[in-house]
Amino acid sequence: MIDWQSSLRQAIRNPAHLLELLELPDLKYSTRGFGLLVPKGYVKRMHKGDPNDPLLRQILPLPEENQQVEYFSNDPVGDIAAEKIPGLLQKYHGRVLLVLTTACAIHCRYCFRQHTKFSISQYQAILANINSDPSITEVILSGGDPLILPDDYLDKLINSIAKIPHIKRLRIHTRLPIVLPERINSTLLAALTQTRLQLVIVVHVNHANEIDANVKQILQSLLAAGITLFNQSVLLRGINDNITALANLSEALFNCGVLPYYLHLLDRVQGAAHFEVPESQAIELLKQMQVQLPGYLVPKMVREVAGAAYKQPIEITY
Ligand SMILES: *Cc1c(COP(=O)(O)O)cnc(C)c1O
Ligand code: SF4
Repeated sequence: MIDWQSSLRQAIRNPAHLLELLELPDLKYSTRGFGLLVPKGYVKRMHKGDPNDPLLRQILPLPEENQQVEYFSNDPVGDIAAEKIPGLLQKYHGRVLLVLTTACAIHCRYCFRQHTKFSISQYQAILANINSDPSITEVILSGGDPLILPDDYLDKLINSIAKIPHIKRLRIHTRLPIVLPERINSTLLAALTQTRLQLVIVVHVNHANEIDANVKQILQSLLAAGITLFNQSVLLRGINDNITALANLSEALFNCGVLPYYLHLLDRVQGAAHFEVPESQAIELLKQMQVQLPGYLVPKMVREVAGAAYKQPIEITY
């Protein structure tokens, strides 16, 4: 298999080049700090000549991103206020979230952390802090994308976390199994499985077209290694804001052994206002999912509210 670091180096960063590949030379785009980044393997899953392709829409910087929109901010979910020490966030009881990198293999245009400048520290201080708090039972690796860190770094980190007696679970929030499946190599799989910790991986898929045979194979290898797999998505206008797309997504995920976990309403981050789906429409979609799908294929629809004790469920009132 191709080595993942080479694939990452070959990822596309130039919008004109991307649009040429997709035979869409006239499509308008914007250039700004949070630039285009997309691996070639992900581009292959897009349809040539379709300006509304649901994968393209997730990654192409559009001119709309430059609008300043009221109520949209740079830190919509209060990440900075939740930082205990650099790189260690706690918002909820019993679980802490580590930001050990801000790098990703793809730049999702709706990302709520696209403006956040975390200072990245050595993990020793973070682990000492977790070690001193026995109420913490779950460590979440986030970012950025934690699986962009090298194998030996992750291996040492996992071993160090496993030495903390009160930690039961390690959860990894990552988009790499989807956007750069070659990342899941045998060294990484070994690091993930040779630990006493229970492993949970939350992948991030918004549309069924993101899952191809290669992705399916990788997800099944994670599953075969005894890892619990969940998915979280964001409800995005023009990408998955219809019942067909949402039902197909749940079906495609379960076909690979992944259960839908959260369907987030958009975090109101500056630059992403054009993706917002009104709450009334979101509730309508949730009702339709409940009609069409078995209960275990209906994700929990939630909104993250800064300062709240848990992700807030969107309730259907009858
Ligand atoms: C979203 C989030 C979690 C995970 O919440 P769950 O409801 O357990 O999935 C944990 N910590 C932080 C800081 C978060 O933002
Ligand atoms: S992979 Fe995750 S952290 Fe990275 S840009 Fe996409 S949504 Fe943001």
